[in-house]
Amino acid sequence: MEDYRTKCIELLESRGVTVSDIADCARFLQADYHVDLKKEELLESVMSVLSKREVQNAIMTGIELDVAAEQGYMKDKDLASILTRDEGLYGVDEVLAYGICNLYGSIALTNFGFIDKKKYGIIAKLNEDGKDTGVVNTFIDDIVGAIAASAASRFAHRWVK
Ligand code: MG
Repeated sequence: MEDYRTKCIELLESRGVTVSDIADCARFLQADYHVDLKKEELLESVMSVLSKREVQNAIMTGIELDVAAEQGYMKDKDLASILTRDEGLYGVDEVLAYGICNLYGSIALTNFGFIDKKKYGIIAKLNEDGKDTGVVNTFIDDIVGAIAASAASRFAHRWVK
């Protein structure tokens, strides 16, 4: 089976997100428990999350939907309009992100809800960039939040022996 990790990192970068940005979000989620934590210490967990096939599938699916809506090649124009407006009741973007979090347990899920509300770092930027600009970041903000939440959860589980 093909390893799509490099492809997914490139896909994320094509939408303005680096693994360093995601590690920074994961560090933010662990900052209350480890005061001196550096984002570099979360990088290994981010790379591990990105190695999982289900995570890669979620990344490819979410980014494809964002780009299809943004570039006008989504066949269903109503759906394209919903994604372009990032309609509040859409919700499928969060559900796709739960699919990532579910691989990393309850800490990942609560972390995801937290960072989704707080809109820290690159997640805040993605949100801003997606507002009335023609840029569609409906799926990617949740995907990035879920990867960061999962990396933070993995880190927390490895810390407690
Ligand atoms: Mg979203």
